[in-house]
Amino acid sequence: MSERRTGKCLCGAVSFEADVELGIQACHCSQCQRWTGGGPLFAARVRNMEMDGAEFAEAYLHSEWGERAVCKTCGSTLYWKMQGKNIAFMAAGLLDDQSGLKVTEEIFIDYRPDWMPAFEGANQSTEAELQAKLAAYLESQKS
Ligand SMILES: [Zn+2]
Ligand SMILES: [Zn+2]
Repeated sequence: MSERRTGKCLCGAVSFEADVELGIQACHCSQCQRWTGGGPLFAARVRNMEMDGAEFAEAYLHSEWGERAVCKTCGSTLYWKMQGKNIAFMAAGLLDDQSGLKVTEEIFIDYRPDWMPAFEGANQSTEAELQAKLAAYLESQKS
């Protein structure tokens, strides 16, 4: 289920409107922990994104396929996507209205720190399970 919602970074330089999936993902990987300053990254899948101030979004290429962006002005965590693709996930904390959101998926659970409780009822995936999915995806992108 998705709903049209708005969001913005801390300073407001970057704002957006998008169809936001209410079931969100918690990524516990060590990159997301550092990127968010504690993690996990609570990521909301988005479609039909309209962004204002995209020139303030600074991309960081953290791997051969992924791209993370922060606001150049305030440093807010903004989005995660595959390089060359549309923005796939926005940080859930940017949303003006977070009502109805629920963690439905936890990934990289083998990196979840001991002090962080699991989300009951969420699908759980380890790094190995995700690597297998990613490999299949990258293979499917080759023509
Ligand atoms: Zn900002
Ligand atoms: Zn992550």
